[in-house]
Amino acid sequence: MSFKLANIAGRAALVEGENYYDLETISNGDFDKDTTNALKNLDGLMALSSELSKAEPSGILKDANIEAPVSAPKNCYAVGLNYRNHAEEAGMDIPSSPMVFTKHTTCLVGPNANIEMRSDHVDYEAELVAVIGIPGKDILKDKAWDHVAGLCVGQDISDRTVQFSSKPPQFNLGKSFDTFGPMGPYLVSPDALKDKDSLHIECKVNEEIRQKDNTNDLIFNVASIISYLSEIVTLNTGDVIFTGTPGGVGVMEGKFLKEGDIVTTSIEGIGTLKNECKRISNHSGVNDS
Ligand code: ZN
Repeated sequence: MSFKLANIAGRAALVEGENYYDLETISNGDFDKDTTNALKNLDGLMALSSELSKAEPSGILKDANIEAPVSAPKNCYAVGLNYRNHAEEAGMDIPSSPMVFTKHTTCLVGPNANIEMRSDHVDYEAELVAVIGIPGKDILKDKAWDHVAGLCVGQDISDRTVQFSSKPPQFNLGKSFDTFGPMGPYLVSPDALKDKDSLHIECKVNEEIRQKDNTNDLIFNVASIISYLSEIVTLNTGDVIFTGTPGGVGVMEGKFLKEGDIVTTSIEGIGTLKNECKRISNHSGVNDS
């Protein structure tokens, strides 16, 4: 059994095909509107999903205001240099343990949100995102997938000037500007995917393909990241994990995002993000010349 869970204008909804079904409505009030609460009852989501054909759709996705699929997660983790070709293009050694940083949860936005840029050094990073369902600590690698409620597509948008402005670099603020975490379009439960560890991932800027890889190239896969993190922190329902980006990011060739660019990010079997870039006022913290 599987499910797809979306956040439509602040209300949890199950997705089938082009339609969405308001969760509180179809569950006769057993669920409320909150997507993180919904992730606490995965069996209930599976059961309701299997009966969607009997329900009346609440609307169609293409007309909907889709927000980030998790409402107010406690934590958002991200992994750097987690594809061999990206570590190599960055001139860095292959990490021997996951290089983890955080994105502030306030940067998370929906799959079609605008990316608001405050410098001319903003970059894209297509990423597979895992969201925790069952909380846990000291999770064994071979049990890790049991703790994943769903996968979605993510963009770890990065202001490279801020990211590298201090020595040693502190990634979190440069990757946490408001709107720097588009994610969605909805959570897809892992069992909906034929091979959850082998998914084509792609990022286009306008019509140009900039990143193209497969998640089976991850140095630390989803299970390894979860096991590693959970030895240190308790993973909570709704916690978000960006798993790293493949080679082809813009900073290597000076191809930064510009006003009006459309960033299209897709992962096989999950869906697509489409985000337009907006150049707004400069941030004043660093010299960005
Ligand atoms: Zn990243």
